[in-house]
Amino acid sequence: MTSGTLKINRRAFMTSMVAGGLTAGVNARSPENSISGQLNEIELSRNPLLWTVAWSNTAAEFGALCHQAFNLARLRVDEAMEKHSRSERPLAVVTDVDNTIVHAGSYWSFLISEGIDFFDDEIWDRWIPENLIALVPGAMDFLKYCEYHGVEIFYVTNRDQGPRTYSYALNQLQYLNLPYSDSEHLVVFRESSDKTSARERIGESHELILLLGDNLNDFKRDYYVADVEERRALMERDRAEIGDKFIILPNATDGHWVRAIFGESEPAATDENRLKLLAAATRGAWIGARSTQG
Ligand SMILES: [Mg+2]
Repeated sequence: MTSGTLKINRRAFMTSMVAGGLTAGVNARSPENSISGQLNEIELSRNPLLWTVAWSNTAAEFGALCHQAFNLARLRVDEAMEKHSRSERPLAVVTDVDNTIVHAGSYWSFLISEGIDFFDDEIWDRWIPENLIALVPGAMDFLKYCEYHGVEIFYVTNRDQGPRTYSYALNQLQYLNLPYSDSEHLVVFRESSDKTSARERIGESHELILLLGDNLNDFKRDYYVADVEERRALMERDRAEIGDKFIILPNATDGHWVRAIFGESEPAATDENRLKLLAAATRGAWIGARSTQG
């Protein structure tokens, strides 16, 4: 990303959002009607988010990976039910919400259509209450399957949209008609992304079969490290649990893998950070052609 390529008229943008830009349906936006009026399609097409968002918006492979995760989750539920006796604690599944059950595609598409190339917390907070959401492929079938068999679902999420955070989150679950969408089964962490205490508390009353998430931090706090190699080494350490107790969904837009690159989960849209992204993307780049020239 070259300097200044994706500058937006931020004041005009936020004015349009206050005027109801998001409520109109973000998917209706296109580069042609970008509110800044300063970006043409070529400029918008230089956004590094394009590939990952285009992929999750269009690729059958994205849906297939989600189904693969939920099919495996169902198999683990079946195994647990087979072993479970009625006298034991009730069975339960703990799931993350964003990008595990709820797909945030319209948010990311909106950012791109406005020339924004990094996660934008202010826009996210405005997007959440609009319920411009979709279900992750396979999520509803899996959750209904659990409900049918009396396996309880606990939703554990980390969000902060101010004092109404909890009601927004609960409203989303109910808007999607998800099983167990009540205050007994929803835990929201506003101050921290550490979900350990919720897992432990639920584990006291229930036998936890599975954890579902799009971020390894949804499974263990160990993954909250700002080092790419350390994080990958932890994942290798835990590889036997992946697909067993940990079911992971694909998400290439955000998560603590971003923190491992930038040192923070929501890095600012600066040229310094664009260069860090470039460095991450070119790690191990092929230099063979260059080395044989001349
Ligand atoms: Mg998530």
